[in-house]
Amino acid sequence: MKARRREVLKGALALSALSLPWPPLRSGGALAAERTSVIVIGGGLSGLYCALSLADFDVDVLLLEGSNRIGGRAFTADGVETRPEYGASEVGPSYARAIYLCSRLNVNLIPDRRKLLPISNFVNGTWVASSNWAASNANKMPEGERHIPPLMVGMRLLSDMNPLENLTDWLSGEFASYDVSVRELFIKNGVSEAALRLASKTMDTLNSSSLALMQERTRTEYDASYAGTVSGEADSPFGLIGGQNEGEDAPAVRNIEGGTSRLPEAIAAALGDRVRTGKIVAEVAMSKSGADVRCLDGSRYRADFVVSAAPFSTLRNISVTPRFAGPQAEAVFRLGYRGTTRAFGVVEQPYWEDDGLEPSFFTDETIQTLTVVDKPGIDKRVFSVIFTGPDAARIDQLPNDQALALIESEIARVRPSTKGKLRFLSLYGWRNNRLVQGCRHMFAPGQITQFAQEMIVPHHRLHFAGEHARRVDFGMEAALESGERAAQEILGRA
Ligand SMILES: Cc1cc2nc3c(=O)[nH]c(=O)nc-3n(C[C@H](O)[C@H](O)[C@H](O)COP(=O)(O)OP(=O)(O)OC[C@H]3O[C@@H](n4cnc5c(N)ncnc54)[C@H](O)[C@@H]3O)c2cc1C
Repeated sequence: MKARRREVLKGALALSALSLPWPPLRSGGALAAERTSVIVIGGGLSGLYCALSLADFDVDVLLLEGSNRIGGRAFTADGVETRPEYGASEVGPSYARAIYLCSRLNVNLIPDRRKLLPISNFVNGTWVASSNWAASNANKMPEGERHIPPLMVGMRLLSDMNPLENLTDWLSGEFASYDVSVRELFIKNGVSEAALRLASKTMDTLNSSSLALMQERTRTEYDASYAGTVSGEADSPFGLIGGQNEGEDAPAVRNIEGGTSRLPEAIAAALGDRVRTGKIVAEVAMSKSGADVRCLDGSRYRADFVVSAAPFSTLRNISVTPRFAGPQAEAVFRLGYRGTTRAFGVVEQPYWEDDGLEPSFFTDETIQTLTVVDKPGIDKRVFSVIFTGPDAARIDQLPNDQALALIESEIARVRPSTKGKLRFLSLYGWRNNRLVQGCRHMFAPGQITQFAQEMIVPHHRLHFAGEHARRVDFGMEAALESGERAAQEILGRA
């Protein structure tokens, strides 16, 4: 079956090459165009898996990655002492494609043994241990809400209102009334002002579409149901450090041994010289006979099909002709993106022994969350300071050294016991990565109804992959899902 399909495909591609002669290779100072059947733009997991899936069918494919590093938002900071993950780290138990790829490419998956140390809270100018939160005067929420820990207010309330049962429910018109901002939904459902205030701090997505977040809750619950896990309950499907493993025999959430970057690197190694780095795509010009792709460095490529596996936040910087139109143009140019910025370091001395509070903490001031984690293989505990949404955007305005100095002094101001006991190592803000421009897509209210269906429909010879182009999954698995779908579309057309 596979062999037959391969024959048909090769025949079809060869026919198109023969019957539609391409323009001369050289004119003036232009570089010769390199010919291939499919160009994939973007070397994140979606683009890599798309290229690998096509290569499996003997399709000639070239992947162009703009930066000099492969992997996109799968990014292990190998040069930093504690090797923090700047991007993805958790492989959920229902990540079928990720698990398959790791096994195929001899990349080891290991149980996530990181342990998040308990969280205290600095709210309304008062320190409160999590165990005292419900009864604390700093807790201004009414009965029915006050039992929810500050960090979880937004997600818990939203989960309680989530009507979605199936993974594709979010695309059905039946739930369109939930395509409103989380804020609007909360107000309509009588959520208190105090809860809204906390949710706006812990849930930077308050102005995003409730429907999009509900899909993620449903997907998270599905993942958790796979292996008896407790799903991450903070403002992200990945939680603070995600699902907690319950016992030695239930490796619910797993990590990639040696760091997440090992997976994209292994896919790139399997693709060999079909992967080119340092190639920022500037233009895609499509005609009846093929697609011309030009990079900023002047290199040119000619292909039958192109896959954009770049986020819409950067696809909008590529000149594409014919132009996008209608709802798809709205999607490419207006889909929202969300930022996160994180500082990483090592706890030199256990400051919590001085003040008796829990080690990790949340504040409703400049510092959002500081997590202290026991990480296997590292003597000292590591910490990360996590900023999302507008808080991340504010930090991103500063150069890294100034941002780190500000974060350190702010932490020492609200929690004096930390002074001199935290050693900062690095800072990474995804909005400042100009080839990604955010940690993830995020539908604004109304955008699901407006363009979620149309946004991934092939545009002439251009197909779409990327976590934003998912239908049922999230995170790395969403990227792989979309890459696989784009490859299937092309195989189907050829
Ligand atoms: C902080 C953080 C934590 C996360 N945690 C998890 C987790 O624990 N588990 C999980 O499953 N997922 C997690 N994710 C999500 C996961 O990392 C992403 O969903 C996934 O890696 C996205 O892959 P992608 O291929 O869609 O996009 P990307 O990885 O962003 O790849 C896009 C690529 O396109 C390139 N590009 C852009 N424009 C151009 C151009 N013009 N020319 C050429 N190349 C271009 C970029 O350089 C980039 O390499 C996390 C993400 C972040 C940011």
